[in-house]
Amino acid sequence: MLPKTIVVVDLAGALETGVVDVIRALVNMGVMATINQTIDFETAALVAGELGREVVAVAEATPEPTGEAEELVGLKEILWSNDDPAKLRPRAPVITVLGHVDHGKTSLLDAIRSTNVTAREAGGITQHMGAYQIEYEGRRVTFLDTPGHAAFTAMRARGAQVTDVAILVVAADDGVQPQTIEAISHLRAAGVPIVVALNKIDKSDANPDHVKGQLAEHGITIEEYGGETPLVAVSARTRQGLAELIDTILLVADVQELTADPDRPAIGRVIEAHLDKGRGPVATVLVQTGTLERGDVVVVGTIVGKVRAMTDDKGKNVGRAEPSRPVEILGLPEVPEAGDVLRAAPDEKTAKALAAEITRERAAAMTGERPPTLDEMFAKVKQGKAKELKLILKADVQGSLEAIKGALAKIPQDEVTVNVIHDAVGDVSESDVNLAAASGAIIIGFSNKLDVPAKRVAESTKVDVRIYKIIYELLDEVQAALTGMLEPLLVEQVLGHAEVRQIFTANKTTIAGSMVMDGFMRRGVQARLLRGGETVHDGLLGTLKRMKDDAREVAAGLECGIVLEGHNDVLVGDMIEAYLIQAKAR
Ligand code: GDP
Repeated sequence: MLPKTIVVVDLAGALETGVVDVIRALVNMGVMATINQTIDFETAALVAGELGREVVAVAEATPEPTGEAEELVGLKEILWSNDDPAKLRPRAPVITVLGHVDHGKTSLLDAIRSTNVTAREAGGITQHMGAYQIEYEGRRVTFLDTPGHAAFTAMRARGAQVTDVAILVVAADDGVQPQTIEAISHLRAAGVPIVVALNKIDKSDANPDHVKGQLAEHGITIEEYGGETPLVAVSARTRQGLAELIDTILLVADVQELTADPDRPAIGRVIEAHLDKGRGPVATVLVQTGTLERGDVVVVGTIVGKVRAMTDDKGKNVGRAEPSRPVEILGLPEVPEAGDVLRAAPDEKTAKALAAEITRERAAAMTGERPPTLDEMFAKVKQGKAKELKLILKADVQGSLEAIKGALAKIPQDEVTVNVIHDAVGDVSESDVNLAAASGAIIIGFSNKLDVPAKRVAESTKVDVRIYKIIYELLDEVQAALTGMLEPLLVEQVLGHAEVRQIFTANKTTIAGSMVMDGFMRRGVQARLLRGGETVHDGLLGTLKRMKDDAREVAAGLECGIVLEGHNDVLVGDMIEAYLIQAKAR
């Protein structure tokens, strides 16, 4: 059963499938939706159909619960269902600031925040809690105070898309830099509207036109050049352009008609959390819909707790937090993770049942939800199911990156298109893996490596990361995946070892009188001759004799005579390693 409208991420929950699958189904239907977008029942039903599921609309009146299990399902629906369209009220937009290091993200956030000091209770101790809200000309705007792409994409990889508008900070004196490009890729993949803040405009070496050109090269065409992205020249230092920047953000936000239902039990997201020595677990929560109240029983991730106290970004105790309001909450028994969902529940028993349900779903999702691997893409292409292969490219140097991109563009893409959602020089980073996980992409590395945190995240998200050293291998595999002809993987299986104890010669052929040390020897398989640990020959095991008779196999502990096909240079003390090359289904 689905409500009249539902948020994409909640639909994934209700269908017990990955958000990635839901978005993919929507995209296939021509609907470009973000994770926290609300869609109507008809669309949701179509998505469900695409995913082979049937759904019905929630009946007008909630049926009487008949048992505990059904009661839980009913509650889940009420708690997870989206807002009643009749009760929707405008809510403050939520803004994230991204950009290259030192381009002024922190300075800009601070400048915006202090714009507002007079409007709010002056003198209040501003405390860092990961998010704050300002009041500007009678309207509220929420800023996430956690600059850094890793935080943004890590949240998104966990299905937590909280940003409505992103400010892309680019220093006018430094222009587009690697992290600017990374931010653009991440924002594009997330489908978040961008406002460019061209910062440090006060500097004498500021070169706005140069930066605008660079942005265009990276697919950000600003309004002045006929594109869709607004750009505001600002200075965090002189405060020039700050008001215009906020005006522009509000304009972009207004197009989205952001609403929430303040009259329902709260749903929010954890922005930050830590353990405080005196106060215990502290979590900054951004309420997304509903109103969170002091005393509410909440399920946060899989933790059940009670909101014992709530403080706002001024450190002031508050009793309620309406949509888009960030608050710090106390009273959780454990520290939740950033990106965890908070849901207010009617009582502790329900909360516990819900937490158990979420734990089960998480366990199921661990095996289910992950981006496709290159091999799965290949399978999908073969079945005619895939339309697009999303790639993240990382290479050691710019030259290889350009060469790879150029070659990829030349691969015929009639049926399946290659979409490079991000490319950059450097090792594969945690942020790349998160981007891949959130976007259903495969990571292709060239002459580089996965750094340690990236490896950890790749293992947990099961993102397919492929590192190549030879450009043709890389291209071959991508092309094979695209055309559905990926060759099976060849794996080596060692059968056993035999030590050469005696040498005989017959008709100029060397027969190695050997003892099988482990495994077995088999006629006709591959064999390596090892001398002092080094391979001195690699070929076929031609003849195998036990006593005087030909044998097919000779097992460990037995003596045998071995002839290596076409190879007579065998010495006492050499080791013969028999092995097989097997084609393994990918
Ligand atoms: P972040 O790494 O992006 O957070 O950058 P910061 O906010 O830490 O700023 C980096 C440096 O640039 C600091 O030394 C700031 O004082 C300086 N800076 C930031 N904004 C401006 C600006 O508008 N004008 C000038 N001249 N300097 C700025």
